[in-house]
Amino acid sequence: MFTTAIAGSLPKPAWLAETEKLWPQWTTQGPELQQAKADATLLWIKAQEDAGLDVIGDGEQARQHFVHGFVEQVEGIDFVNKVTMGIRNNRYDAQVPQVIAPLRLKGRVHAFEAQLARAHTQKKLKFTLPGPMTIVDTVADRFYGDKVKMAMAFAELLNQEALALQADGVDIIQFDEPAFNVYMDEAADWGVQALEIAARGLTCTTAVHICYGYGIEANNKWKETLGQEWRQYEKVFPALAKSSIQQVSLECMHSHVPMEMMKLLEGKDVMVGVIDVANPVIETPEEIADTIGRALQFVPKHRLIACTNCGLAPMSRAVAEAKLKALAEGAKLASQRYA
Ligand code: ZN
Repeated sequence: MFTTAIAGSLPKPAWLAETEKLWPQWTTQGPELQQAKADATLLWIKAQEDAGLDVIGDGEQARQHFVHGFVEQVEGIDFVNKVTMGIRNNRYDAQVPQVIAPLRLKGRVHAFEAQLARAHTQKKLKFTLPGPMTIVDTVADRFYGDKVKMAMAFAELLNQEALALQADGVDIIQFDEPAFNVYMDEAADWGVQALEIAARGLTCTTAVHICYGYGIEANNKWKETLGQEWRQYEKVFPALAKSSIQQVSLECMHSHVPMEMMKLLEGKDVMVGVIDVANPVIETPEEIADTIGRALQFVPKHRLIACTNCGLAPMSRAVAEAKLKALAEGAKLASQRYA
């Protein structure tokens, strides 16, 4: 009854990249690196299928980081001379590339891994792209001088790649917008609009993932400052409810997001995060089924998808594999309980 899916990223094996890092260095280079990316992609497809998940992803094995993987293929960006910039409203510093000229795609961005994944699974294939607002928050602007204008320019490029991914046979295209939880007014004001440009003309399923970030120290510390009730979703969900985006992924397990926030997503499929990505302890099926049960007060059964809170990239492989299995088992138990 309840479909299962992951938010997006999965840990990279040690033979591909540094482990348990958000911006890992590749372990190898050239054709060997390309082969390692392909091998890791296939490994995770198999692991997701073995766990029993319904929607399969490439685990973002072919990109160093969920934003920079896309940005690397954009002309008008100086990727060599990166600068240190505070991102997510100065929550933490990152080495970011600089926008120095009009933006244009160099060519296809994710054809290799999308086509590879499509050829190796019969299940529904989801592919993730960074959302325009989050990209804008993860690059340094030396050219546009206007955040919104630059976001709209990125949205057009994302749209080009999204249409091509759809032609590759991708079933669900998901845009990742953690920045929506940081700049709530702007998200409702123009972030959703930029997202709709990115999704323009798509006939496959469209989704957006909004979270409180990876389970890294800077994010965990930030969460401690957010108080007992996290109401960040309250502004952007009504704007999303009115949009054409069909699925919304949100954080739920061990978070302080009031469950009733999901009521604001009427008419949307809701990917409820039932796996904590900031804690290596493996959730029990009972705990997951309980969380699904609580979400069912606000989301109709046929619209609930069991998902992870965010990507699992910075975790260990063993923990991630165990969490994928827990996700499938928990959703199965919930299906029996709430049928
Ligand atoms: Zn996330």
